[in-house]
Amino acid sequence: MKVMKFGGSSVQDADRIRHVISIVQKAQEAGSLCVVFSAMRGVTDDLIKAALNAQAGRTEYRDIVAHIRERQTQAVEALFPEAQRKKALEPLHARCGEILDILHGIELVRECTPRSMDLVMSFGERLNCRLIASVMRSMGMQAVYFDARSIIVTDGRYGSARVDFKNTYKNIRRKLSKVKGIAVVTGFIAAAADGVTTTLGRNGSDYTAALLAAGLGADSLEVWKDVDGVLSADPAVVKDAFVIDEISYEEAMEMSFFGAEVIHPYTMGPVLEKNIPLWVRNTLNPAARGTRIARDIKRHSWPITGIASIENVALINVEGSGMQGTPGIASRVFSALAKEDVNVIMISQASSEHSICIVCRAEQAERALAVLKAEFAREIETRQIENFELAGDLEIIAIIGENMRGTPGISGRLFSALGEKKINVLAIAQGSSERNISFVVDSRDRVKAINTVHRAFFSV
Ligand code: ASP
Ligand code: MG
Repeated sequence: MKVMKFGGSSVQDADRIRHVISIVQKAQEAGSLCVVFSAMRGVTDDLIKAALNAQAGRTEYRDIVAHIRERQTQAVEALFPEAQRKKALEPLHARCGEILDILHGIELVRECTPRSMDLVMSFGERLNCRLIASVMRSMGMQAVYFDARSIIVTDGRYGSARVDFKNTYKNIRRKLSKVKGIAVVTGFIAAAADGVTTTLGRNGSDYTAALLAAGLGADSLEVWKDVDGVLSADPAVVKDAFVIDEISYEEAMEMSFFGAEVIHPYTMGPVLEKNIPLWVRNTLNPAARGTRIARDIKRHSWPITGIASIENVALINVEGSGMQGTPGIASRVFSALAKEDVNVIMISQASSEHSICIVCRAEQAERALAVLKAEFAREIETRQIENFELAGDLEIIAIIGENMRGTPGISGRLFSALGEKKINVLAIAQGSSERNISFVVDSRDRVKAINTVHRAFFSV
């Protein structure tokens, strides 16, 4: 049994859908399949836009729905023989009518709760997967459509719900393990125990596929994207970036938290736990082998495995003579930020305890600063803490790799290379897992820094 997942750009129009079906058809020869699809590329964004328009009382939402309907209609017209088109359009028209009803409701109450938003977003996957399953059937393939809301059970945290693994796995086994033919399952969407529609967070279809693979005890999970696999660095930045053949789950998780967005970060959890190898493959280049993410990997001989980065971050420095030896400062910093929902991406504190530096997303920086100023107003007044400094327009770059563990000289090589190119490093962090060394540079140095690091570790 294999689970395959195709993202939005792999199924964005009739041509791509036809192509993807041919990939599925070939895979079918090797054994049973469960296939997960996303919405057509851009459709989830459009649905969100429509809901926000409706909430604001703007009737543009109707044009947006008309546009989605048009894209699906074009796909139907291209993919079905004339005689079957009318029947294929029926469910599409019914669903689009339903979306309009919901949006009209949102317009009337002028309120789109996260719960309503999840329902609106769910239509992208529902429309597309139903369409693809019926195209498969019209081609003589045995395909059964499944709405994941009857399979994946979550809590009620709309927008990014948490999975109830026990019930989800039970449902997966019960509903999917005996399907004759190909199970086609909607990505991204789920339902709370009371049946209300939820979603797994943006780009959550990868996660759906991982849950299905784990629940079914699949032999492998293939996530099909539009890149040849997990790359050593962003190819838009580094000309010589190359595909990594094999990578551990832990390394993949480290890579996925960064800008590359190769894989939704939660995806690794279920497959790691059940030890199911995950392949990243390219829809546009099915001949390429792709990257295998697994436990028992063939180790490469490079000192690092890849370089990842996060753009648009800001750094706040908490500094003061009154901090040293005073327990509780760090805890207050993080609690205050957590209370305001500021996500801290990177932390470093020197052993002098004289300063703590925190890195967060640029758009959260002002809020973070205000929160900290309020929390430490007294300490600032008594000069125990100096006023906070905020530096924006920064970038976090990280080198990642299993081979770094216990290997001396990695950070030496990293920082000498940066130093030689006169790239200034503002902060550094290394976790004790030694799988990741992160550092912060000015955004202006981004391209130069990533290329310098790539050359320092990957040239022979
Ligand atoms: N369609 C959803 C999104 O765009 C889920 C996915 O693509 O994985 O976020
Ligand atoms: Mg997507």
